[in-house]
Amino acid sequence: SGATTKECPPTGKLIILTGPSGVGKGTLMRSLLQRHPQLHYSVSVTTRSPRPGETNGKDYYFVSRREFEELVAAGELLEWAEFAGNYYGTPREAVMNQIRSGKRVVLEIELKGARQIHTCYPSALSIFILPPSMSELEKRIRGRAQDSDEAIARRLRCAQEEINAADEFDIQIVNDDFESALNSIEAAILS
Ligand code: 5GP
Repeated sequence: SGATTKECPPTGKLIILTGPSGVGKGTLMRSLLQRHPQLHYSVSVTTRSPRPGETNGKDYYFVSRREFEELVAAGELLEWAEFAGNYYGTPREAVMNQIRSGKRVVLEIELKGARQIHTCYPSALSIFILPPSMSELEKRIRGRAQDSDEAIARRLRCAQEEINAADEFDIQIVNDDFESALNSIEAAILS
């Protein structure tokens, strides 16, 4: 994985939501955007196959590995990483356009990408979502029945490593009670 060294977004405009897969950051993000439609959600590019119900261009841009590698080579990704066997990345131009038009942009990304943004753009607000416990996280990851056993095992292996990095980020929020986690994120973003 690696960030390219082109233009970085200006101060105070980027919000990173990170934390292990299964922690509920996607759901928190969707509720946050409902409450604050002025925030822009950055739709990522991935080589993962769509899950049932996912729409190309809305949940992700689904591309082949080759297409992804071309985006990387062309410097079109603000950050990217390989996670659980697939590539994920943030389209640079879309984010920059939103920021130029005065919007705040929220990225919901895994640890390695969050670190790249943190390095490239230290004034981004970074929020790490923690599970109430490892066993609760395991339950949530296993409960996502669309994923294969192998995909679940890979996600569980990544989770502990990600959690260990929580205090690299500005704010840590435990997603135990959904509403209070959402309120805490909201308070962090609005402060
Ligand atoms: P999922 O396959 O469950 O949709 O996502 C797996 C992980 O990849 C999640 O932790 C998600 O936040 C992360 N992810 C999604 N989009 C991006 C991206 O553009 N960049 C990076 N680095 N991670 C991403």
